[in-house]
Order: sequence, then structure tokens, then C-alpha cells
Amino acid sequence: MVRFTVLASGSKGNCTVVTGGRTRILVDAGLSCRELFRRMALAEEDPRTLDAIVITHEHQDHINGLAVTARKLGIPVYFTDATHRAWMRWLTPRRQMTYAQWIEQCRKQAAERQAEAGAAESDPAQLDCDPEEADSTPISVAPESLPAVTTIPEPAESIPPAPAKDPTWLPAVEYFQAGQPFEIGDISVSPFTIPHDAADPVGFVFRAEGVRMAFATDLGYISPNVKAQLKCVDLLLLESNHDLEMLRDGPYPWSVKQRVLSRVGHLSNEAASDFLENGYDGQAAYVILAHLSESNNLPELARVTAERALSGRASLLANRLLLAAQDEPLSAIHF
Ligand SMILES: [Zn+2]
Ligand SMILES: [Zn+2]
Repeated sequence: MVRFTVLASGSKGNCTVVTGGRTRILVDAGLSCRELFRRMALAEEDPRTLDAIVITHEHQDHINGLAVTARKLGIPVYFTDATHRAWMRWLTPRRQMTYAQWIEQCRKQAAERQAEAGAAESDPAQLDCDPEEADSTPISVAPESLPAVTTIPEPAESIPPAPAKDPTWLPAVEYFQAGQPFEIGDISVSPFTIPHDAADPVGFVFRAEGVRMAFATDLGYISPNVKAQLKCVDLLLLESNHDLEMLRDGPYPWSVKQRVLSRVGHLSNEAASDFLENGYDGQAAYVILAHLSESNNLPELARVTAERALSGRASLLANRLLLAAQDEPLSAIHF
């Protein structure tokens, strides 16, 4: 069975469940744990069956509920090492950490996990999120660029209890690199670099049972690399963030407008539709417009702009166009 369920999409939180065979992956954890579980119940998804969380980048709308959710479910989190580091710095903004200290901290945490393996099991029946573990909202810290790093092995199989008061503690951490596909159970995951103002942001192509699903939001433009990744997919989830006119005339301060419009900002309706008209191969049965801005876009505007692009190509009429929403899950797509 292959299923794709967008639970939330937009600047207030992003979460999607990808199911392939016996494996279920949560893509981004931008909702609070409590809200995530509520959305999953609405979408008839069981949080206890999630096997892993994969993270696109460390912006708050993608990681806000990460620590609480991963701990509650006792499942591994897959990051690039730069994103993991940026996330840790975001949670501990006042702590100055050199790269060597960070490596040392990762080793210590891995050793702790190994030492405590099997010492305790999480209780999957107890799925309420602990209010004391309220999702944090620390000050955002600009990520710094990183040198290339070798992978730090972390045990994924153990579910030890969290050490006291370490906000960065996770049950298990696994690293991946853009351009290097890996497997999580029955799902193969191909991460690719996207142009966005985060430490090491990625999009994904997920493949299970021969079905390919592409995931590309939070990108300033569609680079040749991204375009190549979006070929031959059965499902395309693509950002359609803002209407250019609405953004220009809208409430954001000028500096924020410049950021959104930049080559490392967000994809406009116009840019998404230009891709659908001129760069897209038309192979997807489903095209999902995602990460719509609530301030600078209207769902109908995004839809009409994309429909116009697709209807200009008669061969693409079989593409089903859907819109992912911020406040409610999109009906699950089955293959
Ligand atoms: Zn985002
Ligand atoms: Zn972002």
C-alpha cells in the first residue's frame, strides 16, 4: 500500500505522512505534538505506527514539534548534519558551541543511548503529549555554514528515556546527505538540495512499490537540479507560496518581502505555474500545491494560476490538481 497524507502545509506548520508497504514516515514536524496527533486522528492515521521523522530544514514551521513528537513516539529523526546542528543551536541559542564541541556532544548522546538501550520502553498506549514538554519557541539563530563532515553513527534501535533537561535530546539521530539516496524500511528516500535560506535545506523523492512522490517546498526558484528531480514522478507536491502582486502590496515589511522574493526565499504562484507549463514533464497523476501563504495568497488564485498552466497543455488534463491547507488535513491519496 502506498499513501500520501498532507496533515498541514503553510508558514504555521508543515507535516506529511508517507506510507509505503509496512513503513510510515513523517515528513517534517512543524505542528505541536498535540496538534499533530489530532490531525492524524482526523486523517485516520495512527501516530504509533510512524517509523521515523525526516526533516527538510530547520525553520520553525518544519520542526516546531519535533523533539516532543520524536520522544513521545521513540522514533529516529533523519537530518542532514548541518540541519541537525542548526536545530540544536536553535534550541540552545545562548550556548556557544564550536564544531568540535558539537561532535563531542553527539558522541556523548550516542553513548548515553547505547548505555541505556533496553533500560526502558516508551509506553505507546500513553499518547497524550506531556504539557510539561511544551513545544519550545526559542529565539531564531542564523545558521552558519559547515565544512563537510563524516557521518556520526547513532543507534536507531533503542528507545531510552530522555536525560534530564537536555532540549536537544532525541531517541535516535540518523544522518543523510543531499544526493545520496537511502532507505527507511520499505521506502526509498532521495534527498536533493533546494535553494532556500536555511543551513542545508532539502526536498525529497520518496519511492515505494514503484510509486514516486516528490516533495518540494521552501525554495526560491526551481534550479536545474530540482527540475531534474521532479521528472517521472507519480505525485508532485510543489510550493505555490504567494501571488506576486499580493506580496508586493501586502502587510510584510520590505525586508521580509525581499527575503521571500529572493533566490533563497519561496516559490510564487507565477513561478510554480511557469514550471508546470514549461519545465514539468506532466507525468504525475496528482499535483499538490503547497505552503500557501495566508497573508499573500488565496487558494483560488493559486489554483487558477496552476490550472491555467496545466490547461495550456492538453496532454496534462489527466493531472489532478489539489491544494494542501494549513488548518486541515488533505484527504489521503492512495496508489
Ligand atoms: Zn516553510
Ligand atoms: Zn523554510
